[in-house]
Amino acid sequence: MKRFPVPLLNGYRNFMSGRYVDERERYRVLADQGQKPHTLIVACCDSRAAPETIFDAGPGELFVVRNVANMVPPYEPDGQYHSTSAALEFAVQALRVRDIIVMGHGRCGGIRAALDPSAEPLSPGDFIGKWMNLVSTAAEQIQGNSVMTDSERQTALERISIRNSIANLRTFPCVKILEERGKLQLHGAWFDISNGELWIMDPDTRDFVRLDK
Ligand SMILES: [Zn+2]
Repeated sequence: MKRFPVPLLNGYRNFMSGRYVDERERYRVLADQGQKPHTLIVACCDSRAAPETIFDAGPGELFVVRNVANMVPPYEPDGQYHSTSAALEFAVQALRVRDIIVMGHGRCGGIRAALDPSAEPLSPGDFIGKWMNLVSTAAEQIQGNSVMTDSERQTALERISIRNSIANLRTFPCVKILEERGKLQLHGAWFDISNGELWIMDPDTRDFVRLDK
């Protein structure tokens, strides 16, 4: 039999003797009563940008969807497999979350790939290439901007992509209706993994503003 990864075994034991002991009652209540998370977070798969860690959240607080480059596709009821849309549907319709946060991050590999015209597909299916088409229009415009540095282009597309995903959220009828009724709020955030800064999107200007620590 293959060995289960040792760091995970050790981590689980630490969890059971530490955090689980502290939160045993909370887990019991959540098991009995079901989850009632207040917020849906759409975050990147990147191992450095875990929402539960960044927001110091306990069990039952955050309903988290992670995908490459934290993107929300537009509403497409076409019978295809839409994992992010399925999670969104459940969070909004069944769990009735009050807030949705699209959280991007610095040095995002998906965004870097979208900005690299010479990037070769990792496999014949080119799933990442197809997925990153969601921001291809903005990526092409930024690629051609020679007055920006590489890192400026990268940060710009990371943030433009967040705004793009928020616009796509509003193409889902359930999101649009609940937002108009004031029962759901949409937010953008960008986490700088190099220094821990969190930048929040201003809902009026749509600029990203650094949060005081
Ligand atoms: Zn990323």
